[in-house]
Amino acid sequence: MTTRQNRREFMGLTGAGIAGAAGLSWLARGAAAQVGSPLEPDLVVFNAKVYTVDPITPQAQAFAVKGGRFVAVGSNDAIKPLAGARTQSLDARQMTVVPGFIDAHNHAPGSILLYDVVVGNPYEVDFVTIASIVEKLRERARTTPPGFWVEGFFFDDTKVKDARALDIHDLDQVSREHPVSVRHRGGHTTYYNSKAFELAGITRATPGSAAGTFDHDANGELNGRVTDRARSVFNNVGKRPTYTPEQTLQRNRDALAFISKQFVRYGLTSVHHEGGDLLALQQVRSRGDLKHRVSYEPQDDVLEAMIAKGIATGFGDEWIRFGATSEHTCDGSFSERTMALSVPYPGVEPPYRGNLIFKQDELDAWVERVHRAGIQVNCHANGDVAIDMVLTAFERAQRAFPHPDPRPKITHCTLINDDLIRRIKAAGAVPAPFTSYGYYNTDKFHFYGEELMRRSMAYRSFADAGITAAAGSDFSPGPFAPLMGMQGMVTRKGWNGETWGANQRIGVDEALRVLTINGAYASREEAIKGSITPGKLADFVMLADDPHTVDPDTIKDIAVVRTVTGGNTVHQA
Ligand SMILES: [Zn+2]
Repeated sequence: MTTRQNRREFMGLTGAGIAGAAGLSWLARGAAAQVGSPLEPDLVVFNAKVYTVDPITPQAQAFAVKGGRFVAVGSNDAIKPLAGARTQSLDARQMTVVPGFIDAHNHAPGSILLYDVVVGNPYEVDFVTIASIVEKLRERARTTPPGFWVEGFFFDDTKVKDARALDIHDLDQVSREHPVSVRHRGGHTTYYNSKAFELAGITRATPGSAAGTFDHDANGELNGRVTDRARSVFNNVGKRPTYTPEQTLQRNRDALAFISKQFVRYGLTSVHHEGGDLLALQQVRSRGDLKHRVSYEPQDDVLEAMIAKGIATGFGDEWIRFGATSEHTCDGSFSERTMALSVPYPGVEPPYRGNLIFKQDELDAWVERVHRAGIQVNCHANGDVAIDMVLTAFERAQRAFPHPDPRPKITHCTLINDDLIRRIKAAGAVPAPFTSYGYYNTDKFHFYGEELMRRSMAYRSFADAGITAAAGSDFSPGPFAPLMGMQGMVTRKGWNGETWGANQRIGVDEALRVLTINGAYASREEAIKGSITPGKLADFVMLADDPHTVDPDTIKDIAVVRTVTGGNTVHQA
C-alpha cells in the first residue's frame, strides 16, 4: 500500500476532514447540531491547550471526534456548537492535549512483568541492593525443582546501591542445585552461577568470539558475566517449565492485556512490537482488552511466512498492522557497552571495540531478501561500524531493487558521524534512537565520554539534516514513559544531574514530533495517526501540565490525566 492512497481514502471518507483541515468548516455552520444528524460528533473536547503537531493548525482550543476519528479542530466558539444531544462534551479545564504518543521499538510481550522474577524497577529510576536480588531469586528457588532455571530480569548494573558488579559468587548464594541467571535489562549480557557454567561445559579456558565473550575476574576465573552470542551455549541446558499450547496462549493473552494497560497509563497509544504471539494479540483485541495500536514487527517463522506468501508491510488494519521487520541485531548494546565502535572503548584493557554479529555479506543477503519481498527492513545498529554496515547493505539492495519510498528503519542508530548522517538522509532511512536514555542512562555515558556522546542519540543532528527520527524505548532496556523521553531529549540531563552531549538537545515541539508523527512515519502510518488532524484516528493524551511551560527538569513528572484511543478513554488518572 502507499500512504498517499491511504491519505486520499481517509480524506474521502470524511468530508468533514477536509473542511476541518481548511480552517473551519461547514460543520460549524450548524449542520451537525441537529439531533440525529449523521454528522453529530460522538465527542467534543473544549477549553484545552491543544498542540496538534499538524503544521496547518498547530494550536487549537477544541476538537470533535466521530467514528473514532477527529472530524474538526479549531476554537471553542467553532467547535462547541457542533455538539448534539448525544455528544459527550469534555471540558479540559485548560489542560494540555497532544496526539497519542508512539513508541517505535518495544519488546512488548509483557510476560516477564507478569510471571518472572523482576529484580529492578522496569518503569523508573530506582536503586536496588545485590542482597535484594539474591533474596528474590532464593525465594523463587525454594519453589523450583532442582535442575530447573531460576532467572531474574530487569537488572541494571548502574542502578545498584552496592556500587560493585554482580558476580558468579552472588548467584552461587542463590543456589548450587539450580542453574541461575540474571539478565541485564539491556538484553545483551547475562550473569550466571557456577551450576549454569557447569551444565553448559564452560570453563575459565573456554574462548569467546567476535560475537560474544565469557568474562573473567582479575585472577582469570569466570566472573559470571557473558555477553551477546556467547550466551547461546546456555539455551539448551537446564530444565524449564513446559506448557500446553492452550496454556501458552492464555499466558500470552494475559501478559499482552497487562502490558497494554501499562502503555496507556503513560500515554502511549501506538507501540511497535518486536514480534510476539500474533494469535494471542488478535484475541486480546477481539476481547476488547487491547488499549493501544500495534505495528507488529515480524521475526522468525512469521517473517518467513510473509516472504513465502507475499504478505508485505502495511497488511492489517488500524489496530494491528504488519510494520517493518523486528530488529535484525547487527551489533551489541549501548547500555551494556558491547556495541561495535570504530575506536576502542575508552579505558578498557585489553582494547575492545564491541561485538559484531554478522559479516557484511551475511547482512547483505538478509537485507536484499527482505527488501525484495516488499517488507520494510529494520536493523538494530548502535555503533558507527554497525550503522555503516547496515547502510552499505541497504544501499546495495536499493540499487538492485529500487523502491520509491523504502524507509529502512535503523533501530537505535546511536553513534553517528557526518558521513553516516549524509548516507541516512540519502537512503531515506528512519533512525529510531533510544527514547529515555538521555534521562535514564546518563550513569553509563562516562563509559563513552563526551566526545562520543556528542554524536550519540543525535536528535539535533537528525533534525538539522531533515531526517525523520522516531523514538524507541527498546523496553525492557529503557523505560517506555514518553515524557521521561521528552525530558531527556530537551535537557540531555540525567537523573544523576549529569549532562552529556548537550549539543544534541532539541526543543519541546521537536521532541513532541519525534514522539508522535515521526513514530507514525516509521511504520508508514503518518496518513492516519501521529497528529490531531481531521480525518486521522482520534488518539490523544490529556496532560496535567504543559511541557512547553513547566521547568524542563520536571517534564517527566507531568501527570497523564487521560489517554484516548480511537475516541475511547482507555486510561484515566
Ligand atoms: Zn530492541
